[in-house]
Amino acid sequence: MLYSALCIVSLWTCILAFPLPPEIEKIDYQQWKIAEEYLNKYYAYFPEPYESNMEDKIKKLQKFFGLSETGVLNPETMEIIQKPRCGVPGVENFQLYPNTPKWPSNVVTYRILSYTLDMPKYKVDQLVEKAFAQWSEVSPLIFKRVLIGDADIMTSFTRGAHGDFNPFDGPGGILAHAFAPGIGLGGDAHFDNDEQWSDGSQLGVNFLFTATHEFGHSLGLAHSSDPKAVMYPTYRIFNSEDLFLSDDDINSIQTLYGKGSS
Ligand SMILES: [Zn+2]
Ligand SMILES: [Zn+2]
Repeated sequence: MLYSALCIVSLWTCILAFPLPPEIEKIDYQQWKIAEEYLNKYYAYFPEPYESNMEDKIKKLQKFFGLSETGVLNPETMEIIQKPRCGVPGVENFQLYPNTPKWPSNVVTYRILSYTLDMPKYKVDQLVEKAFAQWSEVSPLIFKRVLIGDADIMTSFTRGAHGDFNPFDGPGGILAHAFAPGIGLGGDAHFDNDEQWSDGSQLGVNFLFTATHEFGHSLGLAHSSDPKAVMYPTYRIFNSEDLFLSDDDINSIQTLYGKGSS
């Protein structure tokens, strides 16, 4: 009886510990599941769809975020995993997507389909315009708002499952996501309406910062591993009404579209 109980206990330990070294004991089972879900979501798609085990995925995450590549779920790795972030999966070491999708014209249209109740509509309109202006100031791109019909970048606040197989997850976690340039969903930017959105003057997720990040994806930029870049995947606490692109952001947009005239 004692023997079989021991077997069960050691089998259970094996399941939980594999493939990680003894440090796993510091991470509880719930955190392990959170990490597994995160890694499968953000480190499974590129470059090959079904490659690699957890340890490799942990190393990829650690490399991207500049941690030492131990392959172990240590506390600093868990800290990154539990930060609010953009829902777009990681593309390792690319500032652009592998096949560099971009808009064929420098005139890109956008439409705001729905709003949040956290800010007045005019404020959302202003911040969307300001977010696009970040990118147009350093490139030849011109953004034109349309009020009806289709637009290149359809922007909306939405919650939970919303028809693109990338459901939102309630408050925290994923804040928003956007699609690279293309037809249909291509270019569209979705913001999780279960977040508390802010214009930077009160508590909440800074909408200008998040929108500038998501529109970067809408224009063809992938995530940057530079913590100063707007295109860094995790959300920084940002209580300001202003925002600046980093050199890395500017280089990436100019690689795609050129420098512009100003
Ligand atoms: Zn992102
Ligand atoms: Zn979506």
